[in-house]
Amino acid sequence: MVNLDSLWKEALSRLSAKIHAIGFEVWVQRLEPVCFVKNTLVLAAPSDVSKKTIEARYKDTIAEEVIESAKSTAGVSVAGVEIIREDEKEEYLNRQDEALPDTGFIIKDAAADPRDTLFSFNKKYTFDNFIVGSSNEFAAAAAKAVADCPGTKFNPLFIYGGVGLGKTHMMHAIGNYIQKNKPQIKVLYVSTNSFLNEYLDVIRQSNNSELNRKFREKYRLVDVLMLDDIQYTAGKDGVQEAIFHIFNDLHHMNKQIIFSSDRPPKDIAHLSERLRTRFTWGLTVDIQPPDLETRIAILEEKAKQEGFFLTPEVAHFIAENAESNVRDMEGLLNKVIFYSSLSGHPVSTVAAAREALKDIIDVPRDTIDANDIIFFTCKYFNISTADITGKKKNKEIVEPRMIAIYLITEMLSLPLVTIGGYFGGRDHTTVIHARDKIAEGLKTNPKLRIQLQDIKDMLLHR
Ligand code: ADP
Ligand code: MG
Repeated sequence: MVNLDSLWKEALSRLSAKIHAIGFEVWVQRLEPVCFVKNTLVLAAPSDVSKKTIEARYKDTIAEEVIESAKSTAGVSVAGVEIIREDEKEEYLNRQDEALPDTGFIIKDAAADPRDTLFSFNKKYTFDNFIVGSSNEFAAAAAKAVADCPGTKFNPLFIYGGVGLGKTHMMHAIGNYIQKNKPQIKVLYVSTNSFLNEYLDVIRQSNNSELNRKFREKYRLVDVLMLDDIQYTAGKDGVQEAIFHIFNDLHHMNKQIIFSSDRPPKDIAHLSERLRTRFTWGLTVDIQPPDLETRIAILEEKAKQEGFFLTPEVAHFIAENAESNVRDMEGLLNKVIFYSSLSGHPVSTVAAAREALKDIIDVPRDTIDANDIIFFTCKYFNISTADITGKKKNKEIVEPRMIAIYLITEMLSLPLVTIGGYFGGRDHTTVIHARDKIAEGLKTNPKLRIQLQDIKDMLLHR
């Protein structure tokens, strides 16, 4: 029997690592597990806005983690999640599945031997529908080269980039490509979290030699091994050691290893030096947030897949409202498609798109002003507005000040002198310096990226 609360607790702990802090706190953590209906976990949201936001932005990730958690903690498969409003709880409780897992709604996974079965890659993620732009062209070329000739060059391939920028898509594209074009090559993909859980199982049952053997073989009898989100091994010495040995064995046999991470190897804290070095033996490539043009091309591709006619102005509107995360941008598109199907009128103008997305893009950008940005930046860093606009030069103030300036230049179209005016009459060269410094930092500093995203989220969802 799956225990609802412990399943949700496990899923939450995984989600906390996947969703940025504010989104997690404001939306995801407030969900309450209610029951199972048709093998689907029903979660109640405290309000309608929260339900809609979660559906648009986080539902897929939540479902992924719930499915994974159910599989790894109880060995059962769950179909997905449904988000409801708190006042609908009663109705769902009446409809809940009464059958116990082994008799019905939760079906036990067949104990498959991975060596005998093909890993099943998500067919939606291919090279063909991965849009290449200047932000990801190097990574895409490397992935393609590795898929063409695994184990010969770029070994390992280390792909890093922010959340929702296409790392997992790229790995599945490699897998799909190999399975289609070189079916004799055994390719295995595993998320670091699943690997971690598997490893912990092996440790817990250290006297189960069969399990031990299977684990060893599973990861050594492959030609291509992909480990997604390797940053989650930070601080976990045992699992790092296991990966180290698997790496050595595979590399020695010229088998391809591919890692992904949300940050470059040098920024993964608490990582053994010998593993860090190995990550960089081959080729390290990054994926940056796509520019406006690429975002629009991605939207067009996704709309095409859904058979939805997307007008250029709606594409532009959506792309402008989702700058740093393609997954979030897809959420907006899905909402527009959903709204069109509900209302029977395809959303084709900016006004209609704004209406369709009004609960998600809560505060239209044109109602945000410089004072809002200063206010929320201060709130985020817990400093006073007098300090941020004043003369202080210590790091704790200077950095937030530069961030606020950057956000103002990025989100509002104000003359540089006016921006300087908000910061005690600083001149335009100071504004340019701050803006460029943060823009430069964003290229290499994932923490900064997260901070900016968090502040923007506070601004847009206040
Ligand atoms: P990550 O693993 O980096 O967090 P994902 O691979 O899960 O990100 O991508 C999130 C979503 O964005 C997926 O649906 C993916 O298809 C889409 N996506 C990201 N980048 C692109 C791209 N360049 N072209 C097409 N789709 C993309
Ligand atoms: Mg991913």
